[in-house]
Amino acid sequence: MRILIVEDEPRTAAGLQTGLAAAGFTPEISTRGDDAVELISTQSYDAVVMDIMLPGCDGLTAVRRLRSRSNSTPILLLSALGEVDQRIDGLNAGADDYLAKPFAIGEVVARLQALTRRGGDTKAILLRVADLALDVPHRIASRGGRQIELSAREFRLLEVLMQQAGQVCPRSLLLREVWDYNFDPGTNLVDVYIRKLREKIDSGSTPALLHTIRGVGYMLSENAP
Ligand code: CA
Repeated sequence: MRILIVEDEPRTAAGLQTGLAAAGFTPEISTRGDDAVELISTQSYDAVVMDIMLPGCDGLTAVRRLRSRSNSTPILLLSALGEVDQRIDGLNAGADDYLAKPFAIGEVVARLQALTRRGGDTKAILLRVADLALDVPHRIASRGGRQIELSAREFRLLEVLMQQAGQVCPRSLLLREVWDYNFDPGTNLVDVYIRKLREKIDSGSTPALLHTIRGVGYMLSENAP
């Protein structure tokens, strides 16, 4: 497993290199964002660990450039502690995962193993419909970079709708997947939650993403049904 570490701070880079090598990866180091974009575009890496603050170009720009070239190498971004907005920016730019500094090397290894196991298929980690993004492992929902506060049930409801994006989700499916009901409780439970969710994700944003399919269920889609 060939990993590119993009980090200009020598001690952090060396620590990552040692830790990843000990875990069985083959790590290389690049110290500039622009150099890293060229390397990742021309070489074959299984994953990339990328700092955000870098000379040449910053990590977010590097990720955007790679994705605009249709390069889908899994990228784990490293961000300074507590910079939630920056992390959401990172995911919106097309990164697959992020980790706050300071981090434990074991955590980096675990995240890289998850990313490389997925083999570039990042659907399980980050769901996206238009500018709505759901970071499932970190439990973060955002639209257009703005974070959305969701209850656990609302989060699960949105996760199911996003997994089925573009397809109609019957009420029975939502009851089963979100509430574990294999029967219709005969209440407007689903409708109440859909209304709350719609307020949170669609109010003040266009286009509307959560559609009601009368008599059938609901659908999350960029395009109106
Ligand atoms: Ca740095």
